[in-house]
Amino acid sequence: MLEFKKVMERTFMVDSEGKLFEQIIEQRVDPLTGNVASINTFLSEKAKAFLGNSDIEVMKELESKTKENCPFCHVFEKGTKYVKSFCPEGHFVLENSVAMPNLFSKCTFDSVLIINYKNHTLFPKKIDTHDFANSITLAKEILERALQYDKELVHHILGMNFLNPGGSSVPHPHFQLHIRKIPYSGVDRIIELSKIYFKNSGENFWQCLYNEEKKKSERFIAEEGDVFWLAPFSPSHQREIWGILKGKSSLLDINKEDIQNFARGISKIVSYYEDINNHPFTFAFFSSPDPERRDYFWLQLRICSRPAFKNLYSNYDTWFAPKFVGDEAHTTAPEEYAKQLREKWNLL
Ligand SMILES: [Zn+2]
Repeated sequence: MLEFKKVMERTFMVDSEGKLFEQIIEQRVDPLTGNVASINTFLSEKAKAFLGNSDIEVMKELESKTKENCPFCHVFEKGTKYVKSFCPEGHFVLENSVAMPNLFSKCTFDSVLIINYKNHTLFPKKIDTHDFANSITLAKEILERALQYDKELVHHILGMNFLNPGGSSVPHPHFQLHIRKIPYSGVDRIIELSKIYFKNSGENFWQCLYNEEKKKSERFIAEEGDVFWLAPFSPSHQREIWGILKGKSSLLDINKEDIQNFARGISKIVSYYEDINNHPFTFAFFSSPDPERRDYFWLQLRICSRPAFKNLYSNYDTWFAPKFVGDEAHTTAPEEYAKQLREKWNLL
């Protein structure tokens, strides 16, 4: 049995009219990492007013302003190219998805994968599921090519930042794929903790998580094929969702059906973020450098919403606790947004 530890705290204060009132805070501990999430739903309505919604007019203005000189819309004329020894064609292309080297490289192969070079949009619902799938397929192809190029290039991370509050500098929707020779510390930490759990209990943590969350159903959202979606018990990020692939540990191992299932899930989640007027988001695939680790670690996508797009937005998800310590606070409980997302899944 996994331990879903919860400590309740109560705080009292006096409001401006002299009235005593109480707030209840749940301190939740992640069963694998020990990361703590503080959940105080008392402020959820106030938070909405304070943190605000995306400013649609500003977004539309930026969309048209950035389109003309967008390097990704004109990737074949303006984009960088891979060296011939790595990619003789210069770019990896699958229909309208195009991969090129990132001008600001952080590792041996740092690629930008333009989801659809013909679709310059700032609105998540307008990103096609089929294009998401094509970009994941391209990422897998680049990973395979990198390994042929240099067998030490086993460590990788595939992610997406969407819009400026989501960490992106170019608004045109794109993934980034980083491939290098040393581990990504956060991915390594989760894999190592999963390994320790396996050694101590003889069980796969992710299988246990699936069994327990599915049975409880409060945070379990849906499953399609071998990919299941849930809201983590103790989220480290705002409205965080995990998509976990049963029985496989690496992007190198996924098949067409897995790719479709991930792409469909991403589309539903980002469309939910748009529904609640919070367009920016960030995600990353946690993928094992060694596909043989499937006994104790499963490939997973972690996605969260970021501050709403508006002028002078507050970067409320990077205050000191999440930024330096890894512990976040929430005004919406994971059970609540999981419920909203389940409805989205049931609609289609
Ligand atoms: Zn563009």
